[in-house]
Amino acid sequence: MNKPKMATEKGIPSSSRVLMLLGQLERLNGEAVVTDIEAIRQVTGKILHLIQTQEKTRKEIMTKGSSGMEVILTSLENTRDLQTILNILCILNELLTVGGGRRVGVFVSKGGTAIVLQLLVQSGKEASPSEELMLHLHSLLAKVGPKDRKFGIKARLNGALNVTVNLLKQNLQNHKLLLPCLQVLRVYSSNSVNAVSLGKSGVVELMFKVIGPYSKKNTTLLKVALDTLAALLKSKMNARRAVDRAHVPALLAIYQDWHRNDTRHRHMLIRKSILGCIKNITNIKLGRKAFIDADGMRILYNTSAECLPVRTLDPLVNTSSLIMRKCFPKNRLPLPTIKSVFHHPLQHVPASGPVAQLYSQPPGVDDVVDESDDNEDTEVDTENDTENEEDEKDPRAQNDDIETDINKLRSRQVLTRPFEELRVYERFFREFSEDFQDCEFESGKSTSPSASDASKPLRSIIIPTAHSTPRPLTDPRNKPPRPDKGEPPRLKDTPVDLDSISISKAPESKLELELVQGLSQLLLDASQSVNGGCGGEGPQEESGEQAVLEVPDTAALLPLHDPDLYLVMVKGTCSVPGYTEVAYPDYFGHVAPNFREHILERVYGVQRSKIFQDIERLIHPTDILDKVVYDLDLQSCPVIDDGECLKFNSQFESGNLRKAIQVRKFEYDLVLNSDINSNHYHQWFYFEVSSMRVGVPYRFNIINCEKSNSQFNYGMQVLMYSVQDAISGSPRWVRTGSDICYYKNHFSRSSIAAGGQKGKSYYTMTFTVTFQHKDDVCYFAYHYPYTYSTLKMHLQKLRALRTPQIYYRQEQLCETLGGNCCPLLTITAMPESTGNDHICQFRNRPVVFLTARVHPGETNASWVMKGTLEFLMSSSPLAQSLRESYIFKIIPMLNPDGVINGNHRCSLSGEDLNRQWLTPSAELHPTIYHTKSLLQYLTAIGRTPLVFCDYHGHSRKKNVFMYGCSIKETVWQTNVSASSSDLQEDLGYRTLPKLLSQLAPAFSLSSCSFVVERSKESTARVVVWREIGVQRSYTMESTLCGCDQGKYKGLQIGTRELEEMGSQFCVALLRLRRLTSPLELRNHHTHLLDMESDLIETRCNITCPTTYVMEEDEPAFLEEVDYSAESDEENDPDADHAHLDPSSDPEFTHQDSLT
Ligand SMILES: [Zn+2]
Repeated sequence: MNKPKMATEKGIPSSSRVLMLLGQLERLNGEAVVTDIEAIRQVTGKILHLIQTQEKTRKEIMTKGSSGMEVILTSLENTRDLQTILNILCILNELLTVGGGRRVGVFVSKGGTAIVLQLLVQSGKEASPSEELMLHLHSLLAKVGPKDRKFGIKARLNGALNVTVNLLKQNLQNHKLLLPCLQVLRVYSSNSVNAVSLGKSGVVELMFKVIGPYSKKNTTLLKVALDTLAALLKSKMNARRAVDRAHVPALLAIYQDWHRNDTRHRHMLIRKSILGCIKNITNIKLGRKAFIDADGMRILYNTSAECLPVRTLDPLVNTSSLIMRKCFPKNRLPLPTIKSVFHHPLQHVPASGPVAQLYSQPPGVDDVVDESDDNEDTEVDTENDTENEEDEKDPRAQNDDIETDINKLRSRQVLTRPFEELRVYERFFREFSEDFQDCEFESGKSTSPSASDASKPLRSIIIPTAHSTPRPLTDPRNKPPRPDKGEPPRLKDTPVDLDSISISKAPESKLELELVQGLSQLLLDASQSVNGGCGGEGPQEESGEQAVLEVPDTAALLPLHDPDLYLVMVKGTCSVPGYTEVAYPDYFGHVAPNFREHILERVYGVQRSKIFQDIERLIHPTDILDKVVYDLDLQSCPVIDDGECLKFNSQFESGNLRKAIQVRKFEYDLVLNSDINSNHYHQWFYFEVSSMRVGVPYRFNIINCEKSNSQFNYGMQVLMYSVQDAISGSPRWVRTGSDICYYKNHFSRSSIAAGGQKGKSYYTMTFTVTFQHKDDVCYFAYHYPYTYSTLKMHLQKLRALRTPQIYYRQEQLCETLGGNCCPLLTITAMPESTGNDHICQFRNRPVVFLTARVHPGETNASWVMKGTLEFLMSSSPLAQSLRESYIFKIIPMLNPDGVINGNHRCSLSGEDLNRQWLTPSAELHPTIYHTKSLLQYLTAIGRTPLVFCDYHGHSRKKNVFMYGCSIKETVWQTNVSASSSDLQEDLGYRTLPKLLSQLAPAFSLSSCSFVVERSKESTARVVVWREIGVQRSYTMESTLCGCDQGKYKGLQIGTRELEEMGSQFCVALLRLRRLTSPLELRNHHTHLLDMESDLIETRCNITCPTTYVMEEDEPAFLEEVDYSAESDEENDPDADHAHLDPSSDPEFTHQDSLT
């Protein structure tokens, strides 16, 4: 035996006496039978004395490498002598009192827990166990238990639970013994299986005997008992037991008692523990009912109100709020059905999926609520539940979504359709065969007349005043004055007579409606040459006074905007509801403000105060107005104009508001419409408000949001457009709103709406706005609107920018289900001459294929696309160089119907078009079908694009970033390293994102990911990569919120930054071109590695690919954001912040994956 630390007896310094004693103890342990009881008593007694008197001896025993603990534990295991046992237990108690977790760790690792538990069980079998022994055993276990992860299982397996329980029952008045026993019981109870079995042994009742009304005595004991009770009540069986025995009102009474008496807040923790018990009981439906019956809402509401001024009592307010939200009776969304108000009949109904389900839903079924909250039957504890016993979470479980099949990852590039079938797409690629023999190289003029070019547009519109009856503008007598071209209206200098505009002051004549109809009639009048004139007839009435509404002159600032041209475009846009109105912001245009819009700092306590206001609805029901002021479900949407409420409207392109209810004088609940032919996807909004009072804060609540979290919790503001501001010279969307937050509300979501999940709730997005102008018309939107008509107007203006150097074609790729045209653009440079070489260079330029706006709610994608298109049509040398480098094929709006009808995610088929790329249907998904066909055609003729990029918006992350596809990075994510070592992969997919991170301030390389997920296998990015064989196939995601890095750090994103992103994308493409030789470009499967190596980061960086795509990148706040007041919450609600992690949120994968 070589134990260097055990010193010999001779020549030991006195300081090591304890080591000598341990040596003696070790020898005594070594004897076959411990004969000399007296000796071992003496040695342990001396050790105890040394330890009690000299701190350094404790250190000596516990130094690293010392076998002291082993020796002591062996002695404990071997001896039957009570005195020795007590000595050793005292030694251990002394040793483990200090030193934190490490000493306990040594104790546990040497098997100490089991030895002590066995001793406890043995002693428990004796007729009258020594009280002192029991006290020491429990004191020791109370120290060890919380730090031994498997303590609960060990105690149960050793049969220790009952020993402690019996001891407790016999010693309820013996506080000295009671405390350590309760402490141990508390640790036992934290194991869910133990909790069930302890409940059966009557421990819940036992705890109620310990817990009493307010008393300054024994508060420590009380606290432990409450914590034990709270742990036990996590078991549904125990919770039911507590409800049955009327403990809910008892707990509430105890809480009130403490609240009243603990005036100096010395016992906040006890009060919190009482709430903890209530919180756990109300996890079951019976508990919530008992809570309501016992007037729990009012009790907690009132006590919280009294706690609010004391910041240190925040934990009480927060827990109370959590309980109240959980118990708040689930309400029904105020809708007849959650199916979209508007319906588009489909000629081909998909065979399966959500749309098929929607169609097969029998009439009369209530889809707004169902019995999904009544799932009490499932609340049965499983005896063999080992869930909490092992902390073995499969680290790969969260990577379930990552594609691991290497064969599936490999690009196949197979022709899925015969070439004969694809040949029809040849007509979209005239540039491949163009010989320009008829071409006059000098002219380059537009071939079709542009409405905007013909004459300078009108600059003023006649608006009837409140006191006049409007006269239709088609009446020739009523022609608006046309200002001279040389005399643009001077907006800022000419104060607008607000009263004379009185957009909202005409109770009898719905002036506002007239106004916009007037606009469209003006359009008819002015644009007959373009549209053939199919205007409606207006009533013939006498004219009265008229006010002139000045249209802001934005021509210089917005070269692509023209209000009159916009109206022309609107006429050709087909919407399902048949919109006739035009929203002012789209008509006037948006000039990006030149001030900075900072990401909002979250104010502490906002969420809580909003939730308390919601709870007040229940506490003071008579304060609630509940007045419906806007309702699309009614045949004639009511327009209430009694001067007591706001007026709402969203019946214009991209508008989305289904219902508005005035809840309090200055508070409105708003309900968004579902995507057409769908019953969910509520996120995008765009609506108009008028009849406001100035200087009063209005609270707006969008009450049927579905996502479990939102950037509105992280500093994002809504957008507002004031018509008064616009006509006084500032036509623009501005970020606005205070007290913004996003939280789970009390409106229940049927399982039909929640994809089969039961017991779900909706979320509320709330914001507060104080209006600045009287008689204003204001618009609110989720993000900068960009309508289909806007796109058409921009394309028309871009086309007019053509120079002889630019080759520009706009074709109709196909017609959408809604009868709208899906434009396809071809942009490149004209050949330098008709010489063979130049024509050849022209035809053989590599193709760059860009698409955008497959998701209508992601309007930022359109603004990025606008930036790209403007760059491509610009006269700069860079742009010319870029055009000479590539042929651009661009589909700027893959989902016009969705955009027009105010959808958030789907097309008129009620489906997410970016999940249809594997097998798009020509009938249901024409734009995807034909876009894919174009790409298939390109591959078939050997002209696979060099780059494919689909522009999107991301609602959960900041910055702009890309998703790409890489076999290696996907494989790395899944730890299947064995097979990846022999994988060859061109790293070219990294070049473009790298270039963008150098060029575009909003772009963040570290947010990029190149992992291929299974759930994304039918997206454009993955299909174009895998099937079409485009190595550089991307989704570019732009934030809806703002940036947290780079030049724009701390700022919300605006259209200027988005457009800049689009133009920098072009610059990056140009650099990409310069890095690649023409030869390689023609066959870009050859390695670009050498050329691009300077751009690609070191291999080290690449082997640490960005984290899994859907991770949330937001920190937790000071104020705990609570998303989890779910009635059937199973998890420990103390771990609420875990819900910030969307990977733990089943909803997230259900519908939130945004590519
Ligand atoms: Zn998207």
